[in-house]
Amino acid sequence: MGKKIVKAENISFRCKEIPLTRKELKNLLNHRIPCLCCGMEMLHPDIYIKLMENENLKGKAPEVIRLLEPYERIMHPVERQVFNMFKSLAVKYPDKNFQQLLIMKKEVHELALVKIQSGIFNKISFYRRILPKKIARQIRKLIIKTNDIIFTPEPYKPFSRRIFIHKIKGIVSHIESEKIREEILTIARRLPRSSDEVCAFVVKNARKRPEIIALNLIHPSVGTFEHLLPKCMKGQNNSLNFALECTYCNNSRHHYPIAVQIEENPYMPENAQIQVEKLISLCKKDLCKYEYVENLAKTLNDLSDGIINIEIKSLCS
Ligand SMILES: [Zn+2]
Repeated sequence: MGKKIVKAENISFRCKEIPLTRKELKNLLNHRIPCLCCGMEMLHPDIYIKLMENENLKGKAPEVIRLLEPYERIMHPVERQVFNMFKSLAVKYPDKNFQQLLIMKKEVHELALVKIQSGIFNKISFYRRILPKKIARQIRKLIIKTNDIIFTPEPYKPFSRRIFIHKIKGIVSHIESEKIREEILTIARRLPRSSDEVCAFVVKNARKRPEIIALNLIHPSVGTFEHLLPKCMKGQNNSLNFALECTYCNNSRHHYPIAVQIEENPYMPENAQIQVEKLISLCKKDLCKYEYVENLAKTLNDLSDGIINIEIKSLCS
């Protein structure tokens, strides 16, 4: 087959043949592929879309539990814990839906969450002692406002981790010392997310419709195409630059380089090896292509400065 000519910004250049179409790559997810980063088994997106159309997810908890049970195995840890909580609550309250059950549990989880959050805000407040007056004042103002939200049982607007981090980023960008800037941001990033703490999941989801709560239990496990070289760094939009990753890991990476992703997920090199081995076993059944796996291994090695070093030659034989 001839090589494709790709036009980009009026420059023509030759690129390598694309080993798999998007559809072929997506369909690998029919074969219990583990996530490249966290190693958890992923769900085919079409199965998730079908579930989204299922009206019964709005119903009473025992029925929804029955519908979700086949996916319990692939649920991420926090979601699985919440699912188990639903299972025991549904025995006692079989007529309630998922939202009603979460509302019952909201208060106790909210207290636990506020405890973690206020500890983190205190840690950030300590920096006021060593920062220039103007920045210290801005931090004080933000923390007072935030404490007001988290200590009010029914705040006008619920606390948003994303907005808080955005605001603190803006404030610390004026700090000269990069070390202090990073220290404060690292502390702020420890604020619990609904994907990392049961209490944050319960508080966030108690505001949602019952069918959305049900879907949120499996959403992190849905397989996605991760751009190995992020789009903003001119990464391509095809399988030469795509790896299969779960929604959770894809969303957590943002546009950071792979080296940063490995820092946050120290088992990623091992998990990448496990995914590649699974893909090679599919190549042997003609369900995947060696060119894709070879390219994946090489790209991972290049982009991680050799930290992800997958030996595939012996596996291909
Ligand atoms: Zn993952």
